Amino acid sequence: MDVVRCQTSSGAQYGVIDDDTIRLLAKFPYDEIVYSGEEVALADVRLLPPCIPSKIVAIGFNYAPHSKELGVEIPKLPLLFLKPPSAIIGHGEAIILPTMSNQVEYEAELGVVIGRILKDVPEAEALDSVFGYTCINDVTARDLQKIDGQFTRAKGFDTFCPMGPWIRTDLDCTSLRVQSFVNGQPRQDGNTADLIHPVAELISYISQVMTLNPGDVISTGTPAGVGVLRNGDQVVVEITGLGRLENLVQDA
Ligand code: MG
Repeated sequence: MDVVRCQTSSGAQYGVIDDDTIRLLAKFPYDEIVYSGEEVALADVRLLPPCIPSKIVAIGFNYAPHSKELGVEIPKLPLLFLKPPSAIIGHGEAIILPTMSNQVEYEAELGVVIGRILKDVPEAEALDSVFGYTCINDVTARDLQKIDGQFTRAKGFDTFCPMGPWIRTDLDCTSLRVQSFVNGQPRQDGNTADLIHPVAELISYISQVMTLNPGDVISTGTPAGVGVLRNGDQVVVEITGLGRLENLVQDA
């Protein structure tokens, strides 16, 4: 099932894709799927970011080859940082290059959308709490990340968290190919089977730090091959079996 949010004449609404239509929902999708009875054509609406998280918990250096390319020692425990919800944009929206940075880079990542309130969940039960998965581009001002020594500014600019186009439920997250393309050229090609800290471990670990709410997102880290984005670029994050998130890049 592919769950979306879309902009209809009566505002932002959740829905489920059914071929070329979207069956709209009467309420949030997390507890149960309740259809409102209304439908809209997929071609007639703008897709919005598929969820509204209270927080995006992202993971640094979770693929060994990416740590190597940045010259960073692999952290023994998951390295957590937060991206602000204000950074989120949807499929087809523009990534705006801030004037503060000269080195804005793409990072293709698997996003995990949490389905229920979680605190101290054991690893063995963690995947049961997942609502679904989405594509994320953890856009990063690499120069500012190095200058600041922590990630808030580098990862937190408006538009630095493209997400979508939808949340796919019923997906096995343990072996998914994660790729990025810039102007059609392949840049990253990883697989979640190579995550140093896999999804179940991340959920359990994070839930021992902070309560996770339905709709919260965990961005699981990026494979090797990161690089710079320029004005006019088209950047794609593609996860096999999930979808393809496309955004254009614009100067501020
Ligand atoms: Mg990242």
